[in-house]
Amino acid sequence: MDAAADPSTHDLAGRLRADGVKYMFASYVDLHGVSKGKVVPIDHLGRMMKGSELCTGAALDGVPQDVSDEEVASHPDPNSAIVLPWRKDTAWFASDLWLKGAPFDACSRNILKRVLAKAADMGFTFNLGMEAEFFVLKDDPSNPLGYAPVSNRKNLEKPAYDVARMLDNMDWMNELVSSMNDLGWDVYSFDHEDGIGQFEVDFKFFDALSMSDRYVFFRMMAHEIARKHGAFATFMPKPYVDRAGSGAHFNMSLADIKSGKNLFADDSDPRGCGLSKLGYQFIAGMLAHLPAICAVVAPTVNSYKRLVLKGSMSGFTWAPIWGCYGNNNRTNTVRIPLGGGRVELRAADSSCNPYLGAALVLAAGLEGIAAGADPGDPHTENMYLKSPEELATLGIKRLPQTLGDAVEAFAADPLAKSVFGNGMYGAWLDYKRDEWISYLNHVSDWERARYLKFF
Ligand code: GLU
Ligand code: MG
Repeated sequence: MDAAADPSTHDLAGRLRADGVKYMFASYVDLHGVSKGKVVPIDHLGRMMKGSELCTGAALDGVPQDVSDEEVASHPDPNSAIVLPWRKDTAWFASDLWLKGAPFDACSRNILKRVLAKAADMGFTFNLGMEAEFFVLKDDPSNPLGYAPVSNRKNLEKPAYDVARMLDNMDWMNELVSSMNDLGWDVYSFDHEDGIGQFEVDFKFFDALSMSDRYVFFRMMAHEIARKHGAFATFMPKPYVDRAGSGAHFNMSLADIKSGKNLFADDSDPRGCGLSKLGYQFIAGMLAHLPAICAVVAPTVNSYKRLVLKGSMSGFTWAPIWGCYGNNNRTNTVRIPLGGGRVELRAADSSCNPYLGAALVLAAGLEGIAAGADPGDPHTENMYLKSPEELATLGIKRLPQTLGDAVEAFAADPLAKSVFGNGMYGAWLDYKRDEWISYLNHVSDWERARYLKFF
């Protein structure tokens, strides 16, 4: 049956046609949170919505080996439809993957939906805002690295919030921000960040599923728009050793599923952070699982080059290194931003799969709530200035320093296994262990420079 004859998709097809849409991506993500999918002409929307588009498991990172010779089907979410702002004849849908006629347990989006259902059973909606940091650079054969910032002004020693360099990047940024606002994402601020060629765009929070769909879409949109302007966007977490890395801080709160009331806000918080008891319990849950959470929200070899103290242009990296929480204090892994009512996980970086990250973080927070856990008092001092010995006496541990350490912490955490489910847990571990071994075994320029002629 085509879309016009099927009442359930009739309105959607009509709206998309009226917008001039001819094609649609039935998109889903792989283990990395990167958008993939087939294109379907609008006449076949009805079939597409029923799961007509199949993909061989083996073509997708994150499909467990035992089903890699099977075909998974994408089931688009009608609420996620976005007309590509830079290509208005094409729409994009976020989809769930199905296997053999039922939701596929190793699909990232289904994994998040499972934890969201648990939160709903407890009476909660999970709201998530993600701060998008990334670099926009251009290929430049004359530069020894092969690429350079878009602006050719002399580099500032402290480029954060640089107006001149922001102005040099306004053409692509204007197109990006206008597109986001046309989609109703309500951008409220953007700036040139602390790395030369690094930017941050901050927009509205949404329920965690919609936010994850949007973050996946955002990365793709930033790439496409930067390309139109002769540049490229990179979400590699730490492209330069001496410049800040790119976070994707998770700003989170739970709301009452019926009334929508924010359950993390409390003006009478005795700790003075404007956070409710429920919010503190959520924090305690996250802190108990931080190493495994890091593996998921900071999932690459390069991620751990961001989670360091020095290695930016303004002194500190403002990326977390210690597994502690604080008030409005950026030197903690978990922060309660000014005004309260939400908690921020600063370990998350620009390369994360938002569905998997949100799923594990939410599950950890719910565990803290179920246990009535308390994280103790917030750290209000500059944690970067404390010695490892002092932190050890406070019982504060360093976040994992390598992908290898984080992945093994993930492997050993029963919560990670129960959230991911056996299929994705195994597939994710296989993939990430291979990634780590491949990195360990490579021989770097640093080693050649240091050892080739040394002995
Ligand atoms: N770029 C920093 C990071 O890697 C964050 C800076 C900020 O607080 O905006 O997390
Ligand atoms: Mg920032």
